[in-house]
Amino acid sequence: MTYPVFRVALPLPLAQTFDYLAPVDTCLDPESLQRWVGCRVQVPFGRQHKVGMVIEVVNHSEIKPGIKVILQRIDTQALLPIELWQSILWLARYYQRPLGDVLATALPQRLREGDALPDLAVAWFRLSEAGVTQRPSLRANSRPRRLADFLAQCGRADADMLAAHDAAWRPTLRVLMQRNLVHSERDTARPELGLQAYADPALLARRSQLNPDQADALRFVVDCFDTFAGLILEGVTGSGKTEVYLHAIDACLQRGQQALVLVPEIGLTPQTLRRFRHHLPVPVHVLHSGLNETERVRAWTAMASGEGRVLIGTRSAIFAPLPQGGLIILDEEHDTSYKQQEGWRYHARDVAMVRARNLKIPVLMGSATPSLEALQGVRSGRFSAIHLRQRAIAKHPTRVQVIDVRGMALPNGLSLPALQAIDQALQRGEQALVFRNRRGFAPVLLCHDCGWRGQCQRCDAALTLHGSKKLICHHCGHRETAPPACPSCGGLALVPQGAGTERLELALAERFPDVPVVRIDRETTQHRDAVEKHLAGLGNQAGILVGTQMLAKGHDLPRLSLVVIVSIDEGLFSTDFRAAERLAQLLIQVSGRAGRACTQGDVLLQTHLPEHPLLPTLLKGGYRAFAESELQARQAAGLPPFCAFALLRHESAEQATLQRFETDALALLRRHSAGHGSCRVHAPLPAPMARRQGRWRRQILLSAPSRAALQGLLGSLGTALYTLPSARKVRWSLDIDPIDLY
Ligand code: ADP
Ligand code: ZN
Ligand code: ZN
Repeated sequence: MTYPVFRVALPLPLAQTFDYLAPVDTCLDPESLQRWVGCRVQVPFGRQHKVGMVIEVVNHSEIKPGIKVILQRIDTQALLPIELWQSILWLARYYQRPLGDVLATALPQRLREGDALPDLAVAWFRLSEAGVTQRPSLRANSRPRRLADFLAQCGRADADMLAAHDAAWRPTLRVLMQRNLVHSERDTARPELGLQAYADPALLARRSQLNPDQADALRFVVDCFDTFAGLILEGVTGSGKTEVYLHAIDACLQRGQQALVLVPEIGLTPQTLRRFRHHLPVPVHVLHSGLNETERVRAWTAMASGEGRVLIGTRSAIFAPLPQGGLIILDEEHDTSYKQQEGWRYHARDVAMVRARNLKIPVLMGSATPSLEALQGVRSGRFSAIHLRQRAIAKHPTRVQVIDVRGMALPNGLSLPALQAIDQALQRGEQALVFRNRRGFAPVLLCHDCGWRGQCQRCDAALTLHGSKKLICHHCGHRETAPPACPSCGGLALVPQGAGTERLELALAERFPDVPVVRIDRETTQHRDAVEKHLAGLGNQAGILVGTQMLAKGHDLPRLSLVVIVSIDEGLFSTDFRAAERLAQLLIQVSGRAGRACTQGDVLLQTHLPEHPLLPTLLKGGYRAFAESELQARQAAGLPPFCAFALLRHESAEQATLQRFETDALALLRRHSAGHGSCRVHAPLPAPMARRQGRWRRQILLSAPSRAALQGLLGSLGTALYTLPSARKVRWSLDIDPIDLY
């Protein structure tokens, strides 16, 4: 006698699956047992019920005492398309994460919790018989007439299609429905979407004619359809990358395939979304952090059912099911928001490569400043590069000028030449962007008499002064009231050191009282679409924008002619091996904001370190020259992308507990690395911020000449770290391919 045993992955930080028996009435023929694989089930776990996924069904001749029975089967067929399932299995191995945990990250919360897939039926609108006959008598070119014409043309339309036709469609439609000229029906199928939608002449008329570079790029992408390929689309902001994406998505849709577009968190603006919705003949689904759970699970299900054809989303959208996937696009490929920085620390670019390989499709990665990983991929032949050399719309080249502020007066952080340049731009009726990547009034509150500084009690970090009285830790959120006198010497000489965006805003508003000064940083943009509202408020009038890197990309700012970079010196001092790359990318991105068709763009860079080698290379040779020299430096120093890193991070409020885990983990890693001669286990070190939120933080770096070699070591490690008794008492994580060593 054999009994089928179900291996179930549960969303727990444990590297194991759990065995369960089938419910009594289960059909036991082998084929129907296999149909359980990939289905969600509800199972008893301790005193709770949990939702897991059946990974495997195996036969046992004996059943373990105490084994429990599955309470309920949730899905009648596998939840995930086979490719996504395979990708997830691969990723769990590569990232050394428990399968249940990886599944939990990949699924929308509703599905994780065991909800059934939502009903996707939506309202469709079509002309009634009366509508068909009366359409010609509606007043030509009126809103109702245009809507009726649109419906006549597409047969029927849903809210998305109507919105693409006319943003203010609702009242018009209501009128037509009241007059019984339009009927509605509920349905999910969208047979009319697809090729036929291309017959819409209005849509084709909106298309730009691609310039020769863009046309070459498009041809390159199309030639790669149905094969696995990594394509780097390199071109400055405004060179027409998005236009190439739109045409490539079109080509993908015409082949009956789905497209997935990933954008960085701050790149998914209403403006971007409108552009895709306006130019594509199918509904565009979205997945981002601003959605509620219902919206998320609907978008997910739409893609899973094949009804959704195009999905735009941020990092986690890379786990969307793509049963008919044809193309994955990663905009701003170098952006660090593609790397998840807690829990399972995946990189969406790498996940995209895994999925594309399994789907046998191309990944198109666009950037003005490709990551060194991408550029090295091109050098080694793993990726292909496509260049957009000219700007899509003519633009004057940007002039960059370094202001050596050593010895200069810097009231509120701004030099005299910078203020003069802002003044001139305003007088020409243009806009200036003052960039500073620190929010708050001042990064430090200092006692001029004794040297005391406001420090967070729980972190190795200074408290940022906000307004005149609030001290806030940007690392743990701790807040306190600024002391009226120095807590150390009692003196009254407390001075804010340095300038954050808040201080710049105040100083600029005082200096230029006749123009609007708009601040854009995390504080002023708590509400959704806040950035857009701020920018709409400014419009095309002369004015000043002050902000953090939220302003580095995304919105189109046609009147902006001057960018002042207040200080980037912290970045030049950083010890992280990727700091230079980040800084170069940021400088290029921010500088790219200056100047459009009609205006000369100027960039002023204030620095105390004008001779830092990064600046001349970048300013004279551009990003390419910088990247070449940086790649050489990385190669010489044996740093990624010329080797592979994994970082074991661990933290605890108790130093002794932390030390115990570290000793055990180190012994374990050393033992395993003995069999992997090319891998190195480095000596444990405190994290660059050695204490955060009251916890001590340390790390152990593992390095290997290649990802494969590193995987060899990690693979042999298996679940050993998870089963260390001391591992339960600390917070630890293994960061594969860390993007910083913090
Ligand atoms: P990127 O994504 O590289 O920043 P975009 O695709 O947004 O560039 O193009 C910048 C601007 O140029 C947009 O306003 C876009 O509509 C316009 N544009 C792009 N390609 C063309 C083209 N071939 N003909 C005319 N305008 C174009
Ligand atoms: Zn003091
Ligand atoms: Zn803190």
